[in-house]
Amino acid sequence: MEFTPVIGLEVHAQLKTKTKIFCSCSTAFGAPPNTHTCPVCLGMPGVLPVLNKKVVDYTIKMALATNCTVQPESRFARKNYFYPDLPKGYQISQYELPIATGGYLDIETGGQTQRIGITRIHMEEDAGKLIHDPDRPISRVDLNRTGTPLMEIVSEPDIRSPEVAGEYLRQLRTILRYLDISDGNMEEGSFRCDANVSIMPLGSTTFGTRTEVKNLNSFKHVEKALYYEIARQKELLLDGGQVVQETRLWQPDKGQTVSMRGKEDAHDYRYFPDPDLLPLVIDDAWIERMRSDMPELPAQRKARYISDYELPSADATVLTGSRELSDYFEACLSAFDQPKTVANWIMGDLLGLLNAKGLDIDQSPVSPDDLAGLLKLLGDDVISGKIAKTVFETMAETGKSAKVIVEEKGLVQVSDTSAIDPIVDAIIADHPDEVGRYRGGQKKLMGFFVGQVMKATKGKANPKVVNEILRNKLG
Ligand code: ADP
Ligand code: MG
Ligand code: ZN
Repeated sequence: MEFTPVIGLEVHAQLKTKTKIFCSCSTAFGAPPNTHTCPVCLGMPGVLPVLNKKVVDYTIKMALATNCTVQPESRFARKNYFYPDLPKGYQISQYELPIATGGYLDIETGGQTQRIGITRIHMEEDAGKLIHDPDRPISRVDLNRTGTPLMEIVSEPDIRSPEVAGEYLRQLRTILRYLDISDGNMEEGSFRCDANVSIMPLGSTTFGTRTEVKNLNSFKHVEKALYYEIARQKELLLDGGQVVQETRLWQPDKGQTVSMRGKEDAHDYRYFPDPDLLPLVIDDAWIERMRSDMPELPAQRKARYISDYELPSADATVLTGSRELSDYFEACLSAFDQPKTVANWIMGDLLGLLNAKGLDIDQSPVSPDDLAGLLKLLGDDVISGKIAKTVFETMAETGKSAKVIVEEKGLVQVSDTSAIDPIVDAIIADHPDEVGRYRGGQKKLMGFFVGQVMKATKGKANPKVVNEILRNKLG
């Protein structure tokens, strides 16, 4: 019996504001425990929360970028539960009236595009952190993170495979980074994902019972955990058992999910509107202000690269993978107007170099202008392709421009026949055997002769000119 997986993702993105969502405490990471706290985020009696406007700004931008409708009026609600990292005994979130609803993203995998619905986006505060002592039965509480702004993005159960889930998450993260509203770092916890998974018989339209998988802290693990969970549910059903609605914990070291707790229902949280916060009213002017403050998004940029620069879709995907990378590409292009050549050098030599050195594009030792300078020398036949590769390496090591390196090392390509002629003559004289075989019909030996000339000129001879001279002299 075949099954179809059904997946819906809940993503929490930590927003890059300087201060917390309802007080003016710093959100800076790494401070000594409990130093970024105040009566508001410590949940003292009698204090009042004040909404950080930047949190709303950022969430409106995300809503627009994911094709959601920004609601003219939304509300904060209290989600009540007890846990030592939650001093108030409730988390301020949004429930019945979230800030944004009804969006979607188009996700491309294996040449196919699928539209994944986004049910809602809402704002909420983060909880604190428990630090468990490894040696003694003691846990400590650090409330620095309490009140850090989060945006929760909930997808429709539209996802049908772990790959699409992974790609959806990658696209969300890319958008967050383009908008510069979240670090989107899964390993560091600024981008977290809970995956809801169920399976149903192939062809069915009735969803099965779902489990919610937590502790997915890398893209690789999201896909692995989903594969595991789908297989586990399948086996259970085929054995005549039933899936229990529950929260399961992904154990990365064991590669399995284990039951954590029964799934809470909404009524367990006793949601109610937070009486301390006014309804949030957003007018069109606010939305338009945010819209005009948004950069070109990855999907639009990619479409433009394909239509205007005639780049293959795969190239456009790589180059728009981050805002910094596509900015680099465009900066290079403005100085050297050959999109495919620039794309090849960035995706090959430059990304290879950065990868080997563990650097980000904005730490590139070769600036876009300098790369364009190198490509100009190559395009104008001043240097050969082979020399260009070594010049590029020297540029990365020394930070010097291609022009300076070529001059200093005397790497200018030699196209002058009077300079190449005597070298060719010498090589022909030194290799009578090969010359005989070539003239006897072994035309493949041309490569050998070209190689010899290139070796003798340390790669500086213009291969086109060398070929021509050789053909003439060898007959
Ligand atoms: P809760 O807040 O209790 O987790 P929601 O109704 O907000 O519940 O749904 C959370 C996520 O679960 C959404 O992403 C939704 O798409 C997904 N989901 C709902 N039903 C199913 C199902 N049967 N199988 C897989 N995912 C589901
Ligand atoms: Mg949930
Ligand atoms: Zn505070």
